[in-house]
Amino acid sequence: MVFEGLSEKLQNLMKKIKGQARITEKDVKEMMREVKLALLEADVNFKVVKEFINTISERAVGSEVLESLTPGQQVVKIVHEELIRLMGSTPAKITFSPAPPTVYMMVGLQGSGKTTTSGKLANLLRKDGKKPLLVACDVYRPAAVKQLQVVGSQLNIPVFEMGTGQDPVDIARKAVEHAKSMQFDVVIIDTAGRLHVDAELMEELKRIKQSVKPHEILLVVDAMTGQDAVNVAGSFNDQLGIDGIILTKLDGDTRGGAALSTKAVTGKPIKFVGMGEKLNDLEPFYPDRMASRILGMGDVLSLIEKAQEAFDEKKALELEKKMRSQQFTLDDFLEQMQQLKKMGPLSQVLSMLPGMDAKALKGIDMDDKQMARTLAIIQSMTPQERANPSILNASRRQRIARGSGTSVTDVNRLLKQFEEVQKMIKALQGKKGSRWMKGLGG
Ligand code: GDP
Repeated sequence: MVFEGLSEKLQNLMKKIKGQARITEKDVKEMMREVKLALLEADVNFKVVKEFINTISERAVGSEVLESLTPGQQVVKIVHEELIRLMGSTPAKITFSPAPPTVYMMVGLQGSGKTTTSGKLANLLRKDGKKPLLVACDVYRPAAVKQLQVVGSQLNIPVFEMGTGQDPVDIARKAVEHAKSMQFDVVIIDTAGRLHVDAELMEELKRIKQSVKPHEILLVVDAMTGQDAVNVAGSFNDQLGIDGIILTKLDGDTRGGAALSTKAVTGKPIKFVGMGEKLNDLEPFYPDRMASRILGMGDVLSLIEKAQEAFDEKKALELEKKMRSQQFTLDDFLEQMQQLKKMGPLSQVLSMLPGMDAKALKGIDMDDKQMARTLAIIQSMTPQERANPSILNASRRQRIARGSGTSVTDVNRLLKQFEEVQKMIKALQGKKGSRWMKGLGG
């Protein structure tokens, strides 16, 4: 998971300091040394780290902390606030032109995820009620045009292309004319990429920019490339001028440095983050939520949003009622697992809950095969057993295993998981979870 190393280190530090009744300047200094190391290890830009540490140190030895009754908590609050500020304070929304169509120009190096992200963005905007048109302006690789067409057909979103024999500037201009006459309100231009920033490419991009005057130029960068991502962002911004950044592959094992450095280095905000290869794995970027996630304060808001998208509201209300009256059965459990799966890998979903230990979640993900097995086991039970699995004795468990083509171990494992989920539901009904439950209820 992104930020895993940084998160773990900072969380340990914060835990240590949180309860401290007295904090001296020396304590702050020591702590800052460790924060600094953690950030550098996470591949955060060196200059950014230095400034970040200076700001926090200054604030942490100020009266705000030292004279406070809860100095430890004050320090945590400051680190949280400064992390948010580092990533841009408020979410940077994508903007629309008052005179449609709004033209977005997607730029970035080859392999950064530009084509995929063009599709994801079109998909996201369509969910928002817009009518998008994708435009294939990478004329150097025939495969690139084809790739965008595949993405377009998967999403059922039209793609404007003129093959590879034309000047991309002409293609872009004609696409915008086409969009105007066909009443598209969003045009997303997928431009060519190179392996490195090169002058020829920049010239071409500048020409497209001049010709179609895009409302926003969005730079797609690969979070996995760390410091390089930051350098690339700097070059594109200096040479072409960009309006926002889309950071892709944040679902991977990246250390996360790019997410923490690009805003400070380029002055341009991250607008979206790519969280997977699928065409709905694009999310708006929220600095506050990301900071909370890094510090292990949980990312309840993102979770609620995901839940609202994936869950049927009526069903969620029904479910909430059942949970409250403790009538949560194995049938509900199965439905829940299927619903949760829609939101993404279970481990990712659960790791957004406050207090969840990312390590303990390893191995919880169910693949389709396991899901099918679970389904078979539950279907081999009687309705009474599904409502109250505690009545299952050893011989019934054996029968069920045989009936579902699984083993007694599989059956026992499922029952154990069900028990765990029941426990989690009870806990969620407590103070912490009430907001989460409301989120599920819509
Ligand atoms: P382009 O050369 O910049 O157009 O890049 P592509 O759109 O072809 O993407 C390159 C690779 O990155 C593809 O295999 C994509 O599936 C993958 N990719 C793009 N965005 C993401 C993301 O957010 N997460 C993950 N895991 N993979 C991504």
